[in-house]
Amino acid sequence: MEVSPVELLIFQPTPFCNLNCTYCYLPDRKDKRVMDVEIVRTAVEKLKEEQLLEPGLGIIWHAGEPTVVRPEQYAAYFAPIREVLGDLEYVQHFQTNGTLIDDRWCDFIAEHHIAVGISIDGPDYIHDRSRKTWNGRGTLDKTVRGIEALKKHGIPFHTISVIGEASLDHAKEIYDFLVSLEPVLIGFNVEEQEGVNQTSTPPIREFENACGAIAAGGGSDFNQQVYPYRILTISVDGAFTTFSPELLGMSSKAYGSLEIGNVKTDSFRGALQNPKYNQLASDIFAGVKRCEETCEYFDVCGGGAPANKLFETGTFAAAETNFCEQHLKIPVRIVLKDLETTLAGAGKAFPAPKAGEKVRRISPWE
Ligand code: SF4
Repeated sequence: MEVSPVELLIFQPTPFCNLNCTYCYLPDRKDKRVMDVEIVRTAVEKLKEEQLLEPGLGIIWHAGEPTVVRPEQYAAYFAPIREVLGDLEYVQHFQTNGTLIDDRWCDFIAEHHIAVGISIDGPDYIHDRSRKTWNGRGTLDKTVRGIEALKKHGIPFHTISVIGEASLDHAKEIYDFLVSLEPVLIGFNVEEQEGVNQTSTPPIREFENACGAIAAGGGSDFNQQVYPYRILTISVDGAFTTFSPELLGMSSKAYGSLEIGNVKTDSFRGALQNPKYNQLASDIFAGVKRCEETCEYFDVCGGGAPANKLFETGTFAAAETNFCEQHLKIPVRIVLKDLETTLAGAGKAFPAPKAGEKVRRISPWE
């Protein structure tokens, strides 16, 4: 089977999280196990042997909270990655709640050129409603303290905010608050959304993605979540899956466990021959086909996110979900409206991709 090289390699160094956010989907966030270095080494060695690596790889440390694992352990993880990947161009990423970031973490992040994403939902009356400690206290002050540390060390970061029902009446305050933190990019993981400011500095991920997809002239090959191994997610004990990262560690009535193998016992290419993979993939591809046949947004979406389809409808073989309107269709409509204004000469054009340039989405895990 022909498989694209891995674009995003996501490691779950621990399931544990120091926070207990009300909307968190991770079932094992009290589990304090830490990934063994040998799992990282085995994974990258197998990827190299199986020719599944190419320049531009993103390595993401995510889920639970990556900074509960100490910098010394990351130094141990990074050594085999450096050794095995050699000259291959790659970038390490942390997606963090920011509450544990201090000067020591900043030194480590700067030394290893780690790209940082901070989960922060807005001012205290929004953020602290959901993003709480295990004792039920709000965490905004700690997250902002982490951001201040990054800024003091000159480390750029982007933000990701969950927009829920409570946010809907405060769109402008949330946006202004996020801009005041001076991130390089703002991303929203949207539960409900309306009326996001369209003239943003810094840029907003959903609009950047919509612009990129439209400027690329259609097609679905930028959707990393509907092709095997463009995203590879590896758990604390070496279990792995592909397509949407949220599938790792989950099971469903229709499919049982959503893992397709374990790095200790399976090859990545071999796992694509097993019945579990075939069961998941055939329904995911059927869902994409249904999208293509029924949805006028297919060319700028590419068939959506399998995890959303499963969690909302109970099957991968579905098309439309709530996610579509909120995460894709609204931003695309706003960008198209903006494009009409641009073409009428009243606005400034967004940049089109250069010839041969690969267009892909900025994923929620970067
Ligand atoms: S917007 Fe929804 S229905 Fe349309 S292609 Fe994307 S996932 Fe499918």
